[in-house]
Amino acid sequence: MDCISKKEIKKFAQQIGIDLVGFASPDCLKNYKNFLEERKNLGYSCSIEERDIQKRISPEFILPEVKSIIAIALSYNVEYEVKYYSRSFGIVSRSSWGIDYHKVLKEKMEKLCEFIRSRCQGVKTAFLVDNNPLLERTIAYHAGIGWFGKNGLIINDEYGSYIFLGEILINKYFAPDTPQKSKCGDCELCIKACPTKAIVKPYIVNANRCLSYVTVKKGEIEEDLLRKLGRKIYGCDTCQEVCPFNKKAKKVKRQEFTPDKLLPRHDLIEILNMTNKDFKEIFGPTSSSWRGKSIIIRNAIIACVNIGEKTCVEPIKNLLKSQSPIIRGYSAWALSYLCDKEKIAEEIKELLVKERDEFAKEMMIKAINRLKG
Ligand code: SF4
Ligand code: SF4
Repeated sequence: MDCISKKEIKKFAQQIGIDLVGFASPDCLKNYKNFLEERKNLGYSCSIEERDIQKRISPEFILPEVKSIIAIALSYNVEYEVKYYSRSFGIVSRSSWGIDYHKVLKEKMEKLCEFIRSRCQGVKTAFLVDNNPLLERTIAYHAGIGWFGKNGLIINDEYGSYIFLGEILINKYFAPDTPQKSKCGDCELCIKACPTKAIVKPYIVNANRCLSYVTVKKGEIEEDLLRKLGRKIYGCDTCQEVCPFNKKAKKVKRQEFTPDKLLPRHDLIEILNMTNKDFKEIFGPTSSSWRGKSIIIRNAIIACVNIGEKTCVEPIKNLLKSQSPIIRGYSAWALSYLCDKEKIAEEIKELLVKERDEFAKEMMIKAINRLKG
């Protein structure tokens, strides 16, 4: 008799709070080489994606003996009423509500692996969440977790697309589950709603134009994208919010993904005034902290400009002397939109003389030129 069945794994996973489990063959990614090459050639892959295509389709680079992949999913569609405490708020994506999902999923997968090991001696596993080169959504699709929506996300009939994905590579064979065909039909709501037209055609997303990436991108953001960010300070939920499958998706009671100190509509001025200690307390426990404080403050500065929020001016003026060149540069940029022209131009000119960072200098020069009109 075999040491463990798929049914037993699914049952245990359910007991420890994993919503969905499926099984895929490690070879399921092999046919995606051309797709990835085409994406790369068209300029649709972004800087945080693994550049080595072979690594993206080869689970054996992570676990050489891999024979199956166990795909898991956890819904983060928590029951929670979003409240608006201030007029000057920035929007935090649902994926960053509550505790960092990497931690939550890893703990659950660790328990699942322990359970499998307790039944099958010598079994080898490796578990992954997000920060790995493999095509996670494609694995989830082949494992029958859900089907591909036109926004490139995995949609499950019961939970919609608000699901976190994880994978366990294992050196034991399980028969793969069956992938499901797309159920989007004629719907194009996500394509129409995308603020940057990042969904270039059904199922194809240009990651460089996707605001989820733009909010974590380092360096300068193109002016047209920057304007489309609106109030978004981390991630983008627009294409998921309009999806009919999310409107009818099951809600879950999950404390881990319920907002705590970081609110879904967080006060921008509080963010602009944040100390390192505040950042650690507010953003530290969530998945939005990985790019650091400067990127979040930069996004808050951009949001202030996008909503024309004059109460942000004083905190942004203080940030002109920040230790971060990104923040100094974007503060100058923002003040050129939000302030009385002549006075602020003089202030920026004075700082420009002392500025040593090339990026900050460039942003200050652009701000001064804009102020000259
Ligand atoms: S996450 Fe936002 S920017 Fe990205 S494809 Fe969806 S709607 Fe467009
Ligand atoms: S919004 Fe419509 S087209 Fe887009 S993923 Fe949902 S069902 Fe598919």
